[in-house]
Amino acid sequence: MMILSIVLLTLDRVWSVIRSGYRKYVVVAMTLLFAFVSCSFSSVIWDGSEHDFTEASAVYYETERSDASLAVESEVDTETLTMSDDEDEEEDDPENISDVSTIDTVSGTDILGSLAGSVNDGISDHEDPSGEDEISFSRDDWEIVLVNKNHPIAEDYTFTLGTIKGSMKCDERVIPDLYSMMEGALADGVNLLICSPYRDDSRQQMLFNRKVTKYTSQGMSYMDAYKTAAQAVTIPGTSEHEIGLAIDIISDSYSSLNAGFGETKAGKWLAEHSFEYGFIVRYPEGKEDITGIEYEPWHFRYVGRNAAKIIAGESITLEEFWEKYL
Ligand SMILES: [Zn+2]
Repeated sequence: MMILSIVLLTLDRVWSVIRSGYRKYVVVAMTLLFAFVSCSFSSVIWDGSEHDFTEASAVYYETERSDASLAVESEVDTETLTMSDDEDEEEDDPENISDVSTIDTVSGTDILGSLAGSVNDGISDHEDPSGEDEISFSRDDWEIVLVNKNHPIAEDYTFTLGTIKGSMKCDERVIPDLYSMMEGALADGVNLLICSPYRDDSRQQMLFNRKVTKYTSQGMSYMDAYKTAAQAVTIPGTSEHEIGLAIDIISDSYSSLNAGFGETKAGKWLAEHSFEYGFIVRYPEGKEDITGIEYEPWHFRYVGRNAAKIIAGESITLEEFWEKYL
């Protein structure tokens, strides 16, 4: 304070000698300069102050805040790495979430309530469709189109989306059998819950990229991250969800997408009966080396009733079905 006053007085004197006519203005200017400098100092020292009087203090706070947020983020990253792996997927990645109670679902009672019994026609024809011995399959049959890491979706593949309910969509040709299955389950006391039917390509891309980024940020090389991500989220362009033939299904009494669903009443019902309606457990337990995907008792693929009956009856995968019957 004293030094500043002396400097002020000295400068004042110098100025008064040089331009005595402007002396008063110089004193005012110096005083303002002093106030300006002391303000800067004060806000830096107060630290918690939200009042940014000067540009200097604004820059100071800016730096301090970004440093603080970086510190917090890196702390979360290292300490909750394994926890966040599941948790931050919850909203967008039904393939990997642990609790679906926060995402959109539609249940058997939702659908059947709104249909008011109009699906009864569907259930009557879910019996064996025709003479089973004479059934032949073609690689061009839309129901059995093979989509996996080695067989990406053909660029000219087309289909029409139909609405299951609300924003839930899938290939419109699947819907009658899907309704029938939900009604059949309900008759057996199982209220199925659809939580992820059709996903468009950009959404699949986003889910996949997020997984890769997560693994690379943990120190994995890009190639390793890509491979690891591909075991949990289907590589974009190779997901059956993108062509509206895959539907993730759970029940209203078990809101987790994990292997445990297979042990529930609904999981068992689906494993036992879904083929009657043209659906298969697409990634069965013990077939991971063939499908390239971990066991997913909630992921159902529509293949049509004829193929489903064979696939379920022989406990094979769609890949094995292709090898044997096509
Ligand atoms: Zn799925």
